[in-house]
Amino acid sequence: MTPFNERIIEALETPELRSNLRGAMDFLRSKRSLSIEDYALWQQHQDIATDVRHALPQQLPELLEQLEQSCTRNGIEVHWAADASDARKIFLQIAQATNATRVIKGKSMASEEIELNTHLEQHGIESTESDMGEFIVQLANEKPSHIIMPALHKNQEQIAELFNQKLNEKADASDVDQLIGIGRKVLREKFKQADIGVSGVNFAAAKSGTLCLVENEGNGRLSTSVPNCHIAIMGIDKVIPDLSSLPSLLYLLTRSATGQEITSYVNLISGPRKPDELDGPKSVHLIILDNGRSSIASDPALAATLACIRCGACMNHCPVYTKIGGHAYGTTYPGPIGQVISPQLDGGEEHNELLNACSLNGACGEACPVNIELPDMIRELRNQRSAAQPNHTGEKMVWHAWRAIHQSPRLYQLTSLMMRIPGLSSLLFPRRWTKGRTSPTPANNTLHALIKAKTNHDNRDPQHEHK
Ligand code: SF4
Repeated sequence: MTPFNERIIEALETPELRSNLRGAMDFLRSKRSLSIEDYALWQQHQDIATDVRHALPQQLPELLEQLEQSCTRNGIEVHWAADASDARKIFLQIAQATNATRVIKGKSMASEEIELNTHLEQHGIESTESDMGEFIVQLANEKPSHIIMPALHKNQEQIAELFNQKLNEKADASDVDQLIGIGRKVLREKFKQADIGVSGVNFAAAKSGTLCLVENEGNGRLSTSVPNCHIAIMGIDKVIPDLSSLPSLLYLLTRSATGQEITSYVNLISGPRKPDELDGPKSVHLIILDNGRSSIASDPALAATLACIRCGACMNHCPVYTKIGGHAYGTTYPGPIGQVISPQLDGGEEHNELLNACSLNGACGEACPVNIELPDMIRELRNQRSAAQPNHTGEKMVWHAWRAIHQSPRLYQLTSLMMRIPGLSSLLFPRRWTKGRTSPTPANNTLHALIKAKTNHDNRDPQHEHK
């Protein structure tokens, strides 16, 4: 069994995880649908955002050049990282040049992608996550399980136990405010001590050189304004032409992510502290990370992957993610967008099998606020994979049998009859498959039999034409 399959089974066999996921997904989905009150307005914003984001792959080189010029003009030092290792090196050079020993981090998926914390730790630099969810997973020595809510796989009891063990506190699981208070007390000290603050970037406007960062806890604002040095890390796909599309992008992002009309904080960062200003960082660095994104932009069938605004809605609506959670994927980006982007970002063959974790039900594509056709892309990647690695003999035989059955009415009827033999269908489904699922029960009558019965009934009933 592959490690991915093992992780899936482990997740399916953990009732606590499944119930935590169920609770979190129901909450996020209902908040999202309640937040879309005016559908016509939603569509207007969706059209603007979709146009801007889908035009990105063709405009990428010019926009990035413009972003570098504008940021430099604003006093932001721009660094280019071809891959994760480059980005880590650049970060370390900046940290060493400023004699930094402590880093405080706001939420940043790009920093997860380059495994920044591990790298800093190896070089004797303490890095503390300041987003409450990220702080919890860091304490638990885990990775985020969702791109928006990193600790949604944990319930209050588990968080209280973690705080008691790791922070030596007397946490009360029934008191959310107390739990948050404990985290805040630890983090306030870390903010004061930090030499460098790290953030991600939600959108970077090329024309004005403005970095936009949305968050709810204020930790992003503190990370980017309290320490003397601020380092922002962004993928090249976060660039937008200017600020004019930002209201539409934020309208969709916050509603799709957490069902909020707007987040508590919207930070627009356009440079370091000016001589006459009293606060803010003395230096701001922007690390722009490629890590495989340029080659995604050059593939017409998959370039739209870069339109993603990392709202997480595709995960919250995916019947696979909602059962197994993010850790089972074993990648920085889980769920449908993770299935599409992970094999493209690092080309790792082990990520190819993520593509199997999809029933092609289409929910992710429908939930995506910027109209990324994720199911089409999953199909495309599956095609590319099978062209590169011809199917196994067993799989080929199954598809040949499937084709033969569906091409012959007699064979189809015979198979349908056989499936109704008690116990036979459960034998056909491998035990591994039914370990975490209920095996399907065949209907008492086939569709053909039902249609025949209905037709006979209608023919006997003289009123049927009026019904
Ligand atoms: S693919 Fe669409 S739904 Fe999924 S995270 Fe990206 S923008 Fe959101």
